[in-house]
Amino acid sequence: MPNGPTNLLGLNRQQMEGFLQGLGEKPFRAVQLLKWIHQQGVTDFDAMTNIAKPLREKLKSVAEIRPPRVRDVFDAQDGCYKWIVEVESGSGVEMVYIPEAGRGTLCISSQAGCSLDCSFCATGKQGFNSDLTSAEIIGQLWLANRELGAFDPPSAGKGTRPITNVVMMGMGEPLLNFDNVMTSLSVMMDDNCYGLSKRRVTVSTSGVVPALRRMREFTDASLAISLHAPNDELRNQIVPINRKYPIRELLAATKDYLAALPDNRQATIEYILIAGVNDHRQHARELAALLKDVPCKINLIPFNPFEGSDYQRSSNAAISNFRKLLQDAGYTVTIRTTRGDEIGAACGQLVGQVDDRTRRNARHLAKLAAEAEVELARAEAAQPVRIRPAGRMG
Ligand code: SAH
Ligand code: SF4
Repeated sequence: MPNGPTNLLGLNRQQMEGFLQGLGEKPFRAVQLLKWIHQQGVTDFDAMTNIAKPLREKLKSVAEIRPPRVRDVFDAQDGCYKWIVEVESGSGVEMVYIPEAGRGTLCISSQAGCSLDCSFCATGKQGFNSDLTSAEIIGQLWLANRELGAFDPPSAGKGTRPITNVVMMGMGEPLLNFDNVMTSLSVMMDDNCYGLSKRRVTVSTSGVVPALRRMREFTDASLAISLHAPNDELRNQIVPINRKYPIRELLAATKDYLAALPDNRQATIEYILIAGVNDHRQHARELAALLKDVPCKINLIPFNPFEGSDYQRSSNAAISNFRKLLQDAGYTVTIRTTRGDEIGAACGQLVGQVDDRTRRNARHLAKLAAEAEVELARAEAAQPVRIRPAGRMG
């Protein structure tokens, strides 16, 4: 075992079958293992009562089921939770749980940091540290299920599934960690694991076009496109990857992905509203014209401020004008309400604890640290945030 034990948490069904075959075992055991791990939350091979003792012993010697460690848990007054999850590179990444009537959404991370440096994003400002492994991506869903009591015996738990939706909208660009994200999506949607519907698992991308073009071979998950600007000139400034893959190519790839799905799925077009930058009436009109042929709904996201950013959230009047113009043009438009703001869990506020490998943002980080000290002093004087120690929630 030159590379240490294989972490079975990160294997999808096909990979689990391959792993078992490599041990000289029957592939049907894969389903048993997946159910133990992802439906019962078992990490101890000895608890797998339908697996014969010799195989359990063999598994113990070559494999492990090792979820990432929870470093911190924060809970907000509005029912949101944010966890800081430790990954192998030493960074902490964030995942957020947002309960709503009839559904629970888990927002998970795909990378520690992000290399794409969108001008409005706290994650991007930190730089990039590492890709998460598939065990670390699926491990977030596993951990949230454990923390929310979903693995507890039916007599102890409520018997309902707390997580009905997963969005890859935490830290990182999912399509830049393609293989591990695709593997994780298949585990999320496998009926032997979490059985999430393809409509309720969403990959959000800022537009890595070649990866988007490959995606359909591996998944039929839903798609969110972080557009944020109605023309290349503006998008080049706020979403730098646009300089490589301009809007026309991004929307063409989006349409092709949707067209290859058997159902009439729509993409979600994400559009942050930043005061004086992209929230003018003319931008709304341009956006309406741009998306004419794209099956989509539009999600407007009022910019969430974070330390070190000079941008401001658009005014309520600007937000409702923007929405009205799009609605009048025939679009379904939602406005994302800000949840989890007080615990820094809102969109674009996710920073985790990332050590930037590129050092690109050292200056920015120094500024953040100085500001954080001031904030801390202020916070100590005011009411403390409710922080719980890591571990199971009661
Ligand atoms: N990298 C991917 C997924 C992570 S970002 C992407 O960009 O799509 C998830 C969402 O949060 C995106 O729609 C992103 O644009 C949005 N976001 C980033 N910073 C934000 C901020 N400061 N306020 C509100 N939303 C933000
Ligand atoms: Fe990366 Fe998405 Fe943030 Fe842009 S918005 S820097 S792609 S995480």
